[in-house]
Amino acid sequence: MGYPARVTVRRAPYTPRDSERGRLSGTLSALLITDTNVFVSSGKEFLRVREGADIRRIVEEAGTALERGDYAAFGRVGDAAAQAIEADYAEMVTYGSKVCVPGSTIKGLLRSRLELCPSRNGSSYFCMQSNVPPLMRTPNPGTHGWRHARIWERAVSEDRGPACNPLRTQDYSLCKVCDIFGSPGVAGRVMPGNFCCGREACVPLTLPPKAMKVIAVRPGTRLEGRIGFSALSLDELGVLLVSMGLRRGSVEGAKILLGRYKYALRNMGVAHFKVIRAEFPARFASTLNELGLEGKCAEGTANVVCEGNGLTELINAAIDEALEKYPQLTWLQNFSEASVREAKGLAR
Ligand SMILES: [Zn+2]
Repeated sequence: MGYPARVTVRRAPYTPRDSERGRLSGTLSALLITDTNVFVSSGKEFLRVREGADIRRIVEEAGTALERGDYAAFGRVGDAAAQAIEADYAEMVTYGSKVCVPGSTIKGLLRSRLELCPSRNGSSYFCMQSNVPPLMRTPNPGTHGWRHARIWERAVSEDRGPACNPLRTQDYSLCKVCDIFGSPGVAGRVMPGNFCCGREACVPLTLPPKAMKVIAVRPGTRLEGRIGFSALSLDELGVLLVSMGLRRGSVEGAKILLGRYKYALRNMGVAHFKVIRAEFPARFASTLNELGLEGKCAEGTANVVCEGNGLTELINAAIDEALEKYPQLTWLQNFSEASVREAKGLAR
């Protein structure tokens, strides 16, 4: 690695959010298909009282010790309480009968894949939002973030300077990832919804090394979701598709990593997107036409729908535009972090 590479972030005045001319608004319907177990934490920790533990007695003893001012005894009761409580299964976010990967998680995932795409010829179309300073050298195995650094080794050693922050700097020139996904003071133009499946896809797992208990989604599960977008140029739609792992000629993307334990455990965290259809309100029919694309109007709706060959054409056209405008993305289009994890033997 050596010294961090100084990289210039290319910024341009941000796209007005209401300018739809020559641009596209609509939704991508997609599946997130799991290739291993996947666990995305709901952020809640679950605890339960161990069988046979008398929690009522422990609480009473704690009260008595406090009354007497006997802090040594209170400490001992505290130890007993810690013994009496154990971690229960951590769950994913649920809505009714559905288990979900939240839209906010998807948004973060897509955004960080773009940020972690290495610069090209000393410049990058994407800033780095993370506050972690560029790495001077590859961290040793076992230290914090070492697997992340090995997978994304080129980007993490780059010094891209401060991230876009128009609220603080009053400079409304943004890098492409902030222009698309938003920045402090500027709304994003990509809005992933939750990706959900039925509870029957869930599987309880006890994971090494500390026997963490989680209820994950099993391999082969198809989580359904939609990604909304507004006023994206064709090249920006291409940037979105590449961030999802898609490449020219296929509606199915490269294997990516997501959720907890995605770096550490081989049977966790691998999934890929499959785009099913793109849908646009009817007012975009002429824009699609001007772009040389055609969608069919779905029966009974006012929407223009791209499916099958029409969808592949749209994906190809958008990705071609994106690669031409942001050549840096060629690297990401040919990258799969799940494959690198495997090739480097990072996960146990
Ligand atoms: Zn930025």
